[in-house]
Amino acid sequence: MRDTADQKLVRKLNNNIILDVLRKEAPLSRANLSAVTGLNRSTVSSIIDELIDGNWVRETSFQTDKIGRPGLQLEINPKGGYVVGIEIGVDFLLCLVTDFSAEVIWRKRLQTNPEDGQVAIQQQAFDLAAEAIEFGKKECGRCLGIGIAIPALVDAQNGIVKLAPNLKWENVPLRLIWNQQFHYPVYVENDGNAAALGEYYFGAARGIQDIIYIAAGYGLGSGIIVDGKLLRGNKGYASEVGHMTYDPKGALCSCGKRGCYETIIGPRAVIENVKNLITEKGPDHTIIKITEGGKNAINYDAVVNAAQENDPIAIDALKEVGCKLGLVVSHLVNIFCPKMVILGGALNYAKDFIQPTVAKVVKENALKLCQEDLEITNSYLGQESSVMGVIGLVLENLWQI
Ligand SMILES: [Zn+2]
Repeated sequence: MRDTADQKLVRKLNNNIILDVLRKEAPLSRANLSAVTGLNRSTVSSIIDELIDGNWVRETSFQTDKIGRPGLQLEINPKGGYVVGIEIGVDFLLCLVTDFSAEVIWRKRLQTNPEDGQVAIQQQAFDLAAEAIEFGKKECGRCLGIGIAIPALVDAQNGIVKLAPNLKWENVPLRLIWNQQFHYPVYVENDGNAAALGEYYFGAARGIQDIIYIAAGYGLGSGIIVDGKLLRGNKGYASEVGHMTYDPKGALCSCGKRGCYETIIGPRAVIENVKNLITEKGPDHTIIKITEGGKNAINYDAVVNAAQENDPIAIDALKEVGCKLGLVVSHLVNIFCPKMVILGGALNYAKDFIQPTVAKVVKENALKLCQEDLEITNSYLGQESSVMGVIGLVLENLWQI
């Protein structure tokens, strides 16, 4: 019995290895696949036969392959199935459908209001997912699963949202609820973790094993990948960088504590900085012209636009947040010694001001040896990194036991 179970596991792992290589490097011949994966020819051939039978892989043209032997080329069959990914943000829903080659074939974003509460937002998410499923079904037939990213402490193993401070959700068995609604496999992941995975599978960090992803939006989300694996910690709630304390006497945070980094890094902090600087330096600035004089009308986009027009107040406000973020990143660099730090979320819109500031502060503060070969970059997938991460989770777990 033991052997059979082990053999099944090995076969499933080999399926995943072959599909992963095909997703990244196709078209490849059987001989190529054998060379790239290190699996012997007969193993590759028998797995490929099964994958072709199941419509997961298809043969394309007959060509001379990369190692000079003639043979039929293989690639992922995009029509092999589809995956639905959805991000339940604090005030939005973003839903993507990808085909089996992980190409996005449908996308839709909706604004939501967190005050509407969990039941109403869930219903909006269900309606959106139902629309996505209808499209996916028409294009690719079978649904391979649904991935959900959410700004919350998530028990990913059981698919339970333990605490979503900004949404004010607690102990919501999301996997169970979505399973009952749609009857497909469901994966639930923290949005920062999901975004780190998205960049790792499909974005800026492809092929890189040690990554820190950090994104400011309504909150400050993050995900850490060490040796190619998502850092989960004891209970699965690791990487809550946004709720690390900066000032115990600071502003009240949505998590109930005071002075978390989330309260001083992000668009809300940038706007606060601008208002303080206007009080200090007077109102004669581009940012005031952009918002037609209304201090209360200042929003993050207006600040970024003003900074691009060289408004010193807007630039200073962004740089101040960049400095604090730089300090956080310096601490993380000393602990995890990553190869890449990816800045995402709203920070992306102001990358010309925030990224150089973060890089400068990290250079000055992190240990020299820990930042050797470190690359600080912006998110490649932008707003879609979390959703692509949970889509990657569905694909990665297709043949898992
Ligand atoms: Zn907090």
